[in-house]
Amino acid sequence: MYDVVISGAGPAGSKCAEVLSKRGFKVALIDRDTSWRKPCGGAVHSRIFKYYPQLRNAKFHQISGIAMYSADYHQFKYKWKDTRYYGITVDRLEFDNFLRNIAIDAGAELFDKNLSIDFVTRNKRRIGIKTKYANETKEYLGKIIIVGDGINSKLLNKLGLRKNIEELMFAKCAIMEGENNLNEDFMSIFFKSYKGYGWIFPLSDNKFNIGCGSMGKDHLKYNLNSIYTDFIKDSEIQNYIPRSDYK
Ligand SMILES: Cc1cc2nc3c(=O)[nH]c(=O)nc-3n(C[C@H](O)[C@H](O)[C@H](O)COP(=O)(O)OP(=O)(O)OC[C@H]3O[C@@H](n4cnc5c(N)ncnc54)[C@H](O)[C@@H]3O)c2cc1C
Repeated sequence: MYDVVISGAGPAGSKCAEVLSKRGFKVALIDRDTSWRKPCGGAVHSRIFKYYPQLRNAKFHQISGIAMYSADYHQFKYKWKDTRYYGITVDRLEFDNFLRNIAIDAGAELFDKNLSIDFVTRNKRRIGIKTKYANETKEYLGKIIIVGDGINSKLLNKLGLRKNIEELMFAKCAIMEGENNLNEDFMSIFFKSYKGYGWIFPLSDNKFNIGCGSMGKDHLKYNLNSIYTDFIKDSEIQNYIPRSDYK
């Protein structure tokens, strides 16, 4: 029996696990797959260092402004005025694992490859989380249950807390490496004629995160693979990333 069982070892679940473990609670942290890189731009405010001073040593790429484009590529560019703060760009897989490891170091027990599928219920009380682990079903019992498994949570559905599919966004992205014409100090966001956007966020002078997604009802109308391919093959985008051999 745990004091706290947390479903989801993303940033929210891991921070929760870290704080509770440091206060002496016995914490189980469940994740379906910690080797999965969440589709995400990976842009983070430098205020993160206040909460995770350990990250200062990691020498992340710094961003000093944003360029936003309308669907017909009119540009609005903004450079941060307050230079005390800036943005950093991170590889989400490394970043999430970094935060998870801090929670584990604080004493939380990580249960990886466990897909939370339901609550364990006794006498109408939710007393734990039921998971699928390989071909088995497992139960993690706790005095307090925390659901932190993101926007696609199965447990949220069980609780009836997700009212409609319009809250979801579907996205696809890649981290590419190679010579490019991007301004490495700026992140770029490209709004689309459908409800959605594409992004290119530099990770260094020759590495960048590129992706695209749609939300609301539009993700039912548009095929994700097609909008991603259309985005990276668009002639305007090709001006920034002209090569065909990005790793
Ligand atoms: C396209 C896109 C781009 C984004 N870009 C940025 C950005 O540049 N900067 C920024 O700050 N934010 C960005 N965000 C938002 C950011 O990704 C979220 O705010 C953040 O990930 C939320 O953290 P979380 O811990 O709540 O959930 P998540 O990061 O989603 O973590 C949930 C965790 O739960 C696990 N999980 C899911 N389902 C189950 C299950 N059934 N059982 C067990 N485990 C499960 C997952 O493996 C994951 O580890 C972006 C979001 C999207 C969709």
